[in-house]
Amino acid sequence: MYKVMTPGPTQVPKEVLAARSLVCTNPDIDETFCEFYKETCEKISSLLHTKNETLILGGEGILGLEAASASLTEPGDRVLVLDNGIYGRGFADFVQMYGGIPELYSDDDLSALDISKLDAYLKEHHDYKYASVVHCDTPSGVLNDISKICPLLKKYGILTVVDSVSAMFGEPVDVDAYQIDLLCGGSQKAVSAPPGLTFVTISEDAKEAMKARKTPVASFYANLLTFEGYYEKKWFPYTMPISDIYGLRAAFDLIENDVTHLERHAKIGAATRKAITSCGLKLHLKNGYSNTVTVFDVPPQTTADDILRLMREDHNILIAGSFDTLAGKVIRIGHMGANANKADMVETLHALYQVLCKLGVPVTCDPAEVFLAEL
Ligand SMILES: *Cc1c(COP(=O)(O)O)cnc(C)c1O
Repeated sequence: MYKVMTPGPTQVPKEVLAARSLVCTNPDIDETFCEFYKETCEKISSLLHTKNETLILGGEGILGLEAASASLTEPGDRVLVLDNGIYGRGFADFVQMYGGIPELYSDDDLSALDISKLDAYLKEHHDYKYASVVHCDTPSGVLNDISKICPLLKKYGILTVVDSVSAMFGEPVDVDAYQIDLLCGGSQKAVSAPPGLTFVTISEDAKEAMKARKTPVASFYANLLTFEGYYEKKWFPYTMPISDIYGLRAAFDLIENDVTHLERHAKIGAATRKAITSCGLKLHLKNGYSNTVTVFDVPPQTTADDILRLMREDHNILIAGSFDTLAGKVIRIGHMGANANKADMVETLHALYQVLCKLGVPVTCDPAEVFLAEL
């Protein structure tokens, strides 16, 4: 069994595992489940600082993104796709799939989206139904300032779809203050439940736009409108994955009771970055560091595969490489959710030190010691 220190899935707390093994009822017929589902959705909304409705969908994070696109996009709709990373530009595929016309707004992959540049662009181009933006683009770890981006888009009447799957609950998210219309999250990142669930928080403006469609949503499973009135009717569009939802609820109970949650992520993120740079490694990004993941370049003396293999074989620790254009180029340590703790990070960084020494990489000190001093 490996210690999972990847940027999602993460380690899963025992309370979550225990909740997933509770006796099951029939979630379609037993009305107490409908209450439990609604209560859990309301808890998520409240942790995200909004009264907007949240829906938990039976499917992994990608379903949330596809549901946002399927439910909002009508054939011919123009959609602004903010792109400074792999997930960012990837959203264009969903827009296209549902007949929309994606327009990429691309900025430097190594930096957070530049707000003043975006502002200048929007002054000239703002005829879009909605825009998509990724909060933390996990393959590079770049964090975009959605507290500024979403209000800016709203100023032009552009609805916002935010993919915060790998940031929320590790980075601050305030749906009302940021004016987010559709916010997508997933169970397996900073929430630290196993993969399998996504949840989407939906503004009144987004609901209106969905209801004002002239064409039907070209999907059943990804149609957010199928949940309309579920509570009044005590009826779900499909049988809910009850054990997954019990686990998710336990994960949110843990988050709710941990008042230092965000502060801990900020401290661990900063100390990890300091540890990585102090020992002579190079952070992949120029700025826009997320406190949920640290990404550094693979040193020229070795390969990503060798680092990952020795971390597994010698130390029983799973960290991650990356994919697409970043395959083989960077290493990612996930310190989100249950992974964001001192002991696991010290163990991981010390193991990394030993692995790099063994591979002949000239590291100047043990990053675990810098991490501890910095914390
Ligand atoms: C993890 C993640 C998702 C969910 O998708 P998978 O690639 O299937 O894990 C979506 N968006 C972002 C930014 C993620 O990090």
